[in-house]
Amino acid sequence: MARTEADRCPGVLAVHQAADGGLARVRVPGGRLTCSQLDVLRVAAADLGDGRLELTSRGNVQLRALKAAGPPELSQRLFAAGLLPSLAHERVRNILVSPLSGLDGQSAYDVLPVATALDQALCGRPELAELPGRFLFALDDGRGDLADVRADVAVRALDDRTALLVVGTRAVQVEWTDVPDLMLAVADAFLAVRDQEWRIAEVPDGEQLILNRLGLAADEVVPMTATRLTAGVHGAALVVTVPLGSLTQEQAGALSQVGSEVRVTPWRSVVVPANSAGLEDVGLVTTPDSVWEGVTACAGQPGCAKALADVRGDAARLLPQLTRRGRRVHLSGCERRCGKPTGDSVDVLAVPDGYLVNGERL
Ligand code: SF4
Repeated sequence: MARTEADRCPGVLAVHQAADGGLARVRVPGGRLTCSQLDVLRVAAADLGDGRLELTSRGNVQLRALKAAGPPELSQRLFAAGLLPSLAHERVRNILVSPLSGLDGQSAYDVLPVATALDQALCGRPELAELPGRFLFALDDGRGDLADVRADVAVRALDDRTALLVVGTRAVQVEWTDVPDLMLAVADAFLAVRDQEWRIAEVPDGEQLILNRLGLAADEVVPMTATRLTAGVHGAALVVTVPLGSLTQEQAGALSQVGSEVRVTPWRSVVVPANSAGLEDVGLVTTPDSVWEGVTACAGQPGCAKALADVRGDAARLLPQLTRRGRRVHLSGCERRCGKPTGDSVDVLAVPDGYLVNGERL
């Protein structure tokens, strides 16, 4: 697919102007935030935005409704908190990691240290600051939870020595010691073969061109069914679902008290220590039977000018009326359906006079 427009993926330095003000997206490689960094984000949202922290489908954090003077002040605070280690690379640090890696005994290999090494190496390569803000790295610890995130380049752990390097639909077995360099070599090759495209899948014959440049002979990757991470205790970790991925001040404050670190997942949840207490008292979800489990929504009103409804505000009222039978639910303010998850889900769409559910009047 040929792109004719510039990549306007928002960051902290390149803020998107939404209907409710500036929208800043803070990249959080591996989803890892120290609790003090989370509190910096919380206070910044209160001082400079609408007070909420949004969790994105790539495990990043957004602040919205930023006032005119907000962005420069925000970037200074994030720089001081260690959340902007390279100004040039701030939008390209898109690194997803299996959120329970090393915490629940299910990892073929703990990929978190590899993600840290990859992030540092990425920031050390000036030419890779040219990557589009949508280019995605993913490190799966072997359980297959990132199988459907559509990364540009991914690794899937096989054991503590080897992994599959996956480029699009092709994979080759590699050693862990080579992984950061190889993933960056794929990114380098993408920049060399692309025209205006933002993703490898958009480049005609892109994955083969890249593999040829690297001299790698790859096979078709064996598909895995992605496992869905639900709220609850998983080994040493507690997965906490955040209703609609939007943290209030009180909720962010409670999460910043759980210990030394939290991990933001790509599924609008946060991983905290298993013994964390008091989170349900502030409206967070710690069990898989909650009505909020598996529910997502686009920004809707007032954040998006195209929205026909305040879908987030309407969600609690609509959910009891839906027949879900275990399926996910996604609410959209218009037919673009931003953020709709892949796979089977109940489609709730705002129309001028109400809502359609899977195309039928609610
Ligand atoms: S689906 Fe429509 S209303 Fe919702 S964020 Fe996207 S463009 Fe806006």
